[in-house]
Amino acid sequence: MPVFASARDLGAFLAPTRTHGRRVALVPTMGNLHAGHFSLVALARKHADIVVASVFVNPTQFGPKDDFARYPRTPEADAAGLAAHGCDALFMPAVDEMYPFGAADGVRVHVPGFDGVLEDRVRPGHFDGVATVVSKLFNLVRPDVAVFGRKDYQQLLVIRRLAVDLAYPIEIVDAPTAREPSGLAMSSRNQYLDAGQREGAAFIHDTLRRMQAEVHKGAVSHAAIEAEAEARLRDKGFEPDYAAIRRADDLGLPAAGQSRALIALIAARLGSTRLIDNLLLDE
Ligand code: AMP
Repeated sequence: MPVFASARDLGAFLAPTRTHGRRVALVPTMGNLHAGHFSLVALARKHADIVVASVFVNPTQFGPKDDFARYPRTPEADAAGLAAHGCDALFMPAVDEMYPFGAADGVRVHVPGFDGVLEDRVRPGHFDGVATVVSKLFNLVRPDVAVFGRKDYQQLLVIRRLAVDLAYPIEIVDAPTAREPSGLAMSSRNQYLDAGQREGAAFIHDTLRRMQAEVHKGAVSHAAIEAEAEARLRDKGFEPDYAAIRRADDLGLPAAGQSRALIALIAARLGSTRLIDNLLLDE
């Protein structure tokens, strides 16, 4: 599997594909790949003839207190894993390939609609970084399809809106969350957890399921369900940023008594590791 640091070289590799009218899929990642990422590659394969993955730890989506410097970087293992999972090419650019004016001084893309909502409240500016780098990847790779995980649900909504509003001729496909047998959502950040924390982290998924059951019972308000979920998380040693029940289509507040088309989302710290997960409540 060829690995390209330069978008121009990737473009030359893809040119014959385009002239033959074959579809190109892009799977953007930050590397340190796991089975969740590889499930995106497999899904991409169903939607396209050529699958390109990208590995780029994007500085502009990390806040000053985030883990940019210590984010796990495993380029050789990522390339080997992608090749083993049938990926056709890997785009692994350096920062100056993606940010020719420097990461701090480049154009920023802002997608409205989520200001102060959930992740944006806790990580202001994060989605500007995501929308900016995804726009650049779309322009550099020019895929027909791009695949994103539902694990990062708010990111998925931001990207869907970005693609529509900036008129990218790209189909956005979303992939279900790959989980450990315990229910813990797979994540590159799980490796920060020690063995005990890793076992305990499955409690996030348990709590989402409990929130789902409570919503379906309909006995108490969403606010009460959220408060109980946060209390249970605290009890188990988590520091929750939120445990929230929102409309699945736009993360707005549900109407009183609404029980369909909802999603439960949790973000919580366990030790110094921040974990996020969600569950579509109709599932
Ligand atoms: P990341 O490398 O964490 O930026 O993730 C790259 C892509 O993989 C994003 O679209 C994520 O939503 C997706 N992803 C991450 N973890 C999982 C998972 N456990 N299951 C499915 N997709 C995932």
